[in-house]
Amino acid sequence: MADRITDPWGARTPYPQGGDWPIRVDEHSDGPVDRWVQSACVLCSHGCALDIGVRDGRIVGVRGRAVDRVNHGRLGPKGLYGWQANNSSDRLLRPLVRRDGELREASWEEAMDLVVERTRGLLGIRGSGALGFYTSGQLFLEDYYTLALIARGGLGTNHLDGNTRLCTATAGQSLKETFGCDGQPSGIHDIEYCDTILHLGINTAETQTVLWMHELDRLRGPNPPRSVVVDPRETESAREAQVHLAIVPGTNLAVLNGLAQQLIANDRLDLAFLENHTIGFDALERTVSAYTPERVADICGVSANDVRRAGEIIGEAEHLLTFVLQGVYQSHQATASACAANNLNLLRGMIGKPGAGILQMNGQPTAQNTRETGCNGDLPGFRNWQNEAHVAQLARLWNVDPLQIPHWGPPTHAMEIFRYAEQGSIQLLWVAGTNPAVSLPDLRRVRSILSREELFLVVSDAFLTETAQLADVVLPVAIWGEKTGTFTNTDRTVHLSERAVEPPGEARSDMEIFLDFARRLDLRDKDGEPLVKWSTPDECFEAWKECTRGRPCDYTGLTYEKLRGSSGVQWPCNDEMPDGTERLYESLSFPTFPEICEDYGHDLQTGAAFSEADFKALNPQGRAILKTTKWTLPHEWAGNEYPFDLATGRTIYHFHTRTKTGRAPELQAAAPDAWVELSAQDAERLGVAEGDMLRVSSLRGSVEAPARISHIRPGLVFIPFHYGYWDVADHAGHDGRPRAANELTLTIWDPVSKQPQLKTAAVKVERVG
Ligand code: SF4
Repeated sequence: MADRITDPWGARTPYPQGGDWPIRVDEHSDGPVDRWVQSACVLCSHGCALDIGVRDGRIVGVRGRAVDRVNHGRLGPKGLYGWQANNSSDRLLRPLVRRDGELREASWEEAMDLVVERTRGLLGIRGSGALGFYTSGQLFLEDYYTLALIARGGLGTNHLDGNTRLCTATAGQSLKETFGCDGQPSGIHDIEYCDTILHLGINTAETQTVLWMHELDRLRGPNPPRSVVVDPRETESAREAQVHLAIVPGTNLAVLNGLAQQLIANDRLDLAFLENHTIGFDALERTVSAYTPERVADICGVSANDVRRAGEIIGEAEHLLTFVLQGVYQSHQATASACAANNLNLLRGMIGKPGAGILQMNGQPTAQNTRETGCNGDLPGFRNWQNEAHVAQLARLWNVDPLQIPHWGPPTHAMEIFRYAEQGSIQLLWVAGTNPAVSLPDLRRVRSILSREELFLVVSDAFLTETAQLADVVLPVAIWGEKTGTFTNTDRTVHLSERAVEPPGEARSDMEIFLDFARRLDLRDKDGEPLVKWSTPDECFEAWKECTRGRPCDYTGLTYEKLRGSSGVQWPCNDEMPDGTERLYESLSFPTFPEICEDYGHDLQTGAAFSEADFKALNPQGRAILKTTKWTLPHEWAGNEYPFDLATGRTIYHFHTRTKTGRAPELQAAAPDAWVELSAQDAERLGVAEGDMLRVSSLRGSVEAPARISHIRPGLVFIPFHYGYWDVADHAGHDGRPRAANELTLTIWDPVSKQPQLKTAAVKVERVG
């Protein structure tokens, strides 16, 4: 196989529109393999199916699964090399507890006693509001559902969210605002049928590498799709596009309103679809009419003719497929912009048909499951916290009093959880499988919160991350390959991942840890029976199926057995759709009925939540909701003292804060350190050459990293957010070179999805060496 570090996408296998994407099996192993064990990759939301190669009880490689619908055997660099993290010599093997200021090894008994004693104490004195849980996009469905039951049904805390708040909260929220419920409308096989792809703030080549292979093979085949890219950086997809709108960060909504204006002004509308299957057209038309190409050009720093040309391409599309990701979700007016993306497809009636639809992508591999199970600020099974009938269903399922399930207000989102911890009302915070000390905005503040004397910090992780280093108790976990369970990718495909090897040392799966926690707390249902009624992953999966019965994310047709040996299956999968569902909304009926919907919606400008009465007055009744709002200035905008805009983002070789990929030698060697990307014009103006050390500063902190000169938009700098301090001697905030991009970002979030804005901040740049 070719060196997939230097050739990340591998050889092309072109195919025509409507053709099958050919199989190509990618494999990498460290010597011979004794047996292969079924799984899928957990290093991005694409969820490529793979088999884990095992020899002598160790993971020694991976091989893409040819039979699977998602990847047809392909793997990207992270999938091919990332597994090596499992074998890393610095895995946590035993629990750690803080004694005399130092983390020291302890038994599970000691560690869990401490956690349970503190939980009981806080429940007794301060109540469930003193307990917070912050999870990940890395656990399995079974881990999440177990925690959701314990936290919401057992402890009764509303403070449960995941780091998926940072990556996919806006994806889920925009789907709720437009269609009434979360759930990806399209499937990735729509790439095979589309004639036009709209990329909005998504760099598929690096963030979903196998998705880019799927696209690139269409682009190299007969009848390739045309493409429009909105991104301030010149990405691989921008290089392939007919139009690249390199907008100023923070102006997504203006350009998307402008594209809607062009569709309306040029009669590029599906009037029958709009009449029968949507509401809100008149208000939309009134709002977007102000966004003429000239005004958009003025706001976004692009040419008016390019806006017109982009509008033409979208207007001429017969099969329009729209991809959206963090460039929209982590930016200013995130939910409004993601809804504005949905509007473009709705205006053209491009939904529920082969090649025509929307993929509001996820960032993290199991982000979809946090949203489904209620670990990410919603109630399990896409239930609506404002709908008493939904709460009652859940209470019946869990055999608890409905009042035990917090639903007096919206579930607490991550940024609020950290604020409560800062203010002292949350006094126990359990962080599972994530690293907020590198991934949250404004790290100086985050470190100070996590280090508070009054906060009891529990961290479950496989490694001593920057966050774990600040914990009072650290619990060693079994990760992918060391436990059995399921997870769901960005296009609703559920995969089974089997345990291939034993976990190292005394590490346990997250589900086992949560079950132990519930047992020790003696959590009971209202009949005095144990609250959690399962002890194995497959029992948990069966319970989860019941939770989804009749809901849009219906899993009732799935079993571990069905997922074993063959391809992953897309939900809903039930008696009606036993083989799963390629795309939602083929019937053009949307879950916007008040008794079904997951959310009654929000005002996109202020974030004010609508009530059931508001929603009933709106009366969508199965029709999609067109909504947008006017563009406003971001909270920070490049100016005199801080003349550059900052965008943070990802590289193809790393996942999240490199907890795993930084321990895979090939990936780490390919991208060992942070960098500051700037345009050639700005470099010349500042007298900066490639590799010069730069200091980038904002009102909150600074980062020092070498310069990389690229085709980025002038006035913008880009820094990858993966790099913290666990693998360098120096520590930001202590001494040495700060290099975590989130030293610079600000504590601010979208009013609707509550997703932090990691892509709009003002900075200055200096050459320091
Ligand atoms: S595209 Fe994503 S899921 Fe697939 S191999 Fe790469 S990192 Fe893994």
